Amino acid sequence: MLERNDMAKLLSVEYDYVIENGTVIDPKSELITIANVAIKDGKIGVITRADLKAKEKIDASGKIVCPGFIDPHCHIDGYLYNAQCYAKMGVTTAITGNCGFGPYPIKDFIDRINNEGFPINHGTLVGHSFDMRKMVGLEDPFKVATSKEINEMVKIAEEALEQGAIGISLGLEYAPATTKEEILALARLAAKYDKVMPIHSRSDSWGSVKALREMVKIQEDTGVRILISHLTYQNGMGMMKESLPIIEKAYAQGYKIAVDSGAYHAFATYIGSEVFGEGWLEKYDCIYEDVLVSAGPHVGKRLSETLYKELLATDPKTLCTAFVGKEYEVIEAMQQPYVMVSTDGAVGSHEPGTGHPQDAGTYPKVFGRFVREMNAFSMMEAVKKCTLMPAEFFGLENKGWLGTGADADVVVFNPKTIIDKAEYSGLGIPDTPPEGIDWVFINGVSVIKNGKLVENSRPGRAIHQENKIWAI
Ligand SMILES: [Zn+2]
Repeated sequence: MLERNDMAKLLSVEYDYVIENGTVIDPKSELITIANVAIKDGKIGVITRADLKAKEKIDASGKIVCPGFIDPHCHIDGYLYNAQCYAKMGVTTAITGNCGFGPYPIKDFIDRINNEGFPINHGTLVGHSFDMRKMVGLEDPFKVATSKEINEMVKIAEEALEQGAIGISLGLEYAPATTKEEILALARLAAKYDKVMPIHSRSDSWGSVKALREMVKIQEDTGVRILISHLTYQNGMGMMKESLPIIEKAYAQGYKIAVDSGAYHAFATYIGSEVFGEGWLEKYDCIYEDVLVSAGPHVGKRLSETLYKELLATDPKTLCTAFVGKEYEVIEAMQQPYVMVSTDGAVGSHEPGTGHPQDAGTYPKVFGRFVREMNAFSMMEAVKKCTLMPAEFFGLENKGWLGTGADADVVVFNPKTIIDKAEYSGLGIPDTPPEGIDWVFINGVSVIKNGKLVENSRPGRAIHQENKIWAI
């Protein structure tokens, strides 16, 4: 509690900004109230109904003022263009390096963000299934690692964690030969330092239920805090009804698991990845035409057998979007109280006009379509899923809430007009900015001002976490 004198002091300060008369939502205290939010030197100074002095006052009447959105799962990998798209949709912190690939070396990534500046706060995981396996000579995803190679990977991961990686990510679907021994060695390392392990499961579609059990078992065997990555993209092909009870049972037993899930039912990945490997048409119960080419010279075309073979042979890194998920399962997953919102965005698309609408539309879609139009869950629940839940999972103590001393990562949006405008490549423009987001502050500096990007604004910092020795 603040003493009376402290409060008098807080009220007498001249602030950098005061956001006045907005509907302030704090997911930590679960309070919704009309108040003034004061920002100074990168922090929230005070939230009050009293009049405050400020260099700049912003009228937020009728607007929501809430913590900035924290994306637990993206692939921005330090790309400026993507980060600016994310800021436009209210993201103030994004965690990259998911699904087993990302920036490396970690030290270079962190130094670059901190030295050059970045539009948003940015942290990274160290990736196993592409990056580490490659570093020890396992180019072939079907090659089983030897004990020596596993030990080498553990060394690489330990060094990355020491340099500030916030965890180790697995993309088991992309490296099918990954053994239990290999996973457990890395999971034990992450558990030792209380770092997290986000996992893109071994299989989507029919195999996704079994794959979910495998992830829960990793938690049980090692104590590592796992994050089940993009649940809808793995289990949202008709398997959600079978999948959710497995997660609920694990929660009931006290397992340390978290779940992220996106707002779209069509996922994007490289045509040459294992996702489109042998038997994929049967796996997804689909036809070639269910897949849209989302980058390169054939962008916007539906796949055919000929085009599939051509792309595989000539440009396997071509990003493609597979319309194989169930739209209703996107909502069903997100309605669960333990599911946080993620984008899975910016996979292989770092240029204007490319990519997947999740890269520019996820959060406005959640607030505009799921909350306002469909009433799928409450505004408070939505804010919590986009802010406090990821902050708590990653241990970002000053983020994900609003109050004196919190980092001034703040979004001001209009709940009546917020909406996504991004479309799938070929059907529209995937990076069309949303509407209804007026201000985005990151560390107390505006990156979105009156609905417009401040081009040169670089207030973001690297998320750098020290290793803690975890003792149960
Ligand atoms: Zn993934």
